[in-house]
Amino acid sequence: MTVTVRFAPSPTGHLHIGNLRTALFNWLFAQRQGGRFVLRFDDTDKQRSRTEFADQIAADLAWVGVAPDRVIRQSERLALYDGAAERLKAAGLLYPCYETPDELDRKRKRLAARNLPPVYGREALRLTDDERQALEAEGRRPHWRFLLPNFADDPLQPQRTEIHWDDLVRGPQTVDLASLSDPVLMRGDGSYLYTLPSIVDDGDVGVTHVIRGDDHVTNTGVQIAIFEALDLTPPVFGHHNLLTTITGEGLSKRSGALSLVSLREDGLEPMAVASLAVLVGLPGAIDAMPDLAALAERMQFEGSSQSASKFDPSELDRLNADLVHAMPYADVADRLAAMSVPSTDAEAFWLTVRANCARVADAAEWAEVAFGDLDRTPELSDEDRQFVTAARDSLPEGAFGPETWREWTGALKQATGRKGRALFMPLRLALTGRDHGPELAALLPLIGRQRTLARLG
Ligand code: GLU
Repeated sequence: MTVTVRFAPSPTGHLHIGNLRTALFNWLFAQRQGGRFVLRFDDTDKQRSRTEFADQIAADLAWVGVAPDRVIRQSERLALYDGAAERLKAAGLLYPCYETPDELDRKRKRLAARNLPPVYGREALRLTDDERQALEAEGRRPHWRFLLPNFADDPLQPQRTEIHWDDLVRGPQTVDLASLSDPVLMRGDGSYLYTLPSIVDDGDVGVTHVIRGDDHVTNTGVQIAIFEALDLTPPVFGHHNLLTTITGEGLSKRSGALSLVSLREDGLEPMAVASLAVLVGLPGAIDAMPDLAALAERMQFEGSSQSASKFDPSELDRLNADLVHAMPYADVADRLAAMSVPSTDAEAFWLTVRANCARVADAAEWAEVAFGDLDRTPELSDEDRQFVTAARDSLPEGAFGPETWREWTGALKQATGRKGRALFMPLRLALTGRDHGPELAALLPLIGRQRTLARLG
């Protein structure tokens, strides 16, 4: 069977780096296995789901290079879920409950007062037909719970029932179904919670592996039971650890913190973001991977952290700078053209300045230095100013080339006795307006004779 994974965000906000971790674990896993990747929008919550968010999520994934083989929307597949719900009802596995949220809350409090776990006691199963009719006549609409298979004959006598699976990330896992409440699959207004649509879709699409955050571990016990109730083979499950902020708070799609949109607007390279999203919490160093294929090689679940990993945004700056310093010209050609870097000099320019750029956008500053007007007047002592003016007269003849700087400073050394910093720094300041920057030997031919003369004058 073809390996098939899915990434299933609800389109209720912007993807953050933690969501990207889930998406990439799935994508890279599929890539390594020659499998398929399905993007599924879990948009059954009509109030909070928005098409704009779904479009943005697809664009964010495209930005990191994730190209789904198929995109589905749960809001377009309701008939499938209705069919499954009917089957469960007919088998007596989906039953109507009439408690209001307040009543449920009071039940939980009573259990807590007796030191009992807050597990729903299946009181709705005791209702007679007449009682149900009376409740409906009062205007109550039932929500529907799945009857967990955690009893021998009498559902009111649950007993320990273990569900086991071999987790791709965490190894052997056990969930006791007697420790859980029967999950609500449908709300009183007939809408579905996430659980049933997810299972029906995973079955329908032929999902073979579900890789997701470890906040879903308990859900998996319940979901395996529902897969089986629907005669579907449960997929292999893997639960990775979650990312938190540096101060330990969970990431939220709605807060916008560490969203891919904001990281992109901040000028970060997608591979810097992708590398950190995947490698944090995994064994080995966190390095910037040049592409997703290289990242796929580094992804391994064995030995990965099982507690939450703190995500430090300053690591992104380091990874981004590493990528930019080694970035080939072809990867930035368009962006340099947008900065009005002359195309004839663009490659030489990039190879000269990239080591001085933490972001590709930083090249704009060096483009001004090389091809534009200096944005600041260097502060030089009178002595240095005289030296610079004199240096103007000893510029080598002819077009500037890779040797010009060496010839020029060699002659100046001889003529003035200056050397080292005393020789180079006044020239650097005069030519660039800065006391640091790319190699002047490479920068000088880009600045060219005309601007050099003007800046030394
Ligand atoms: N929409 C669910 C979520 O975002 C998907 C969970 C899953 O992968 O099953 O939590």
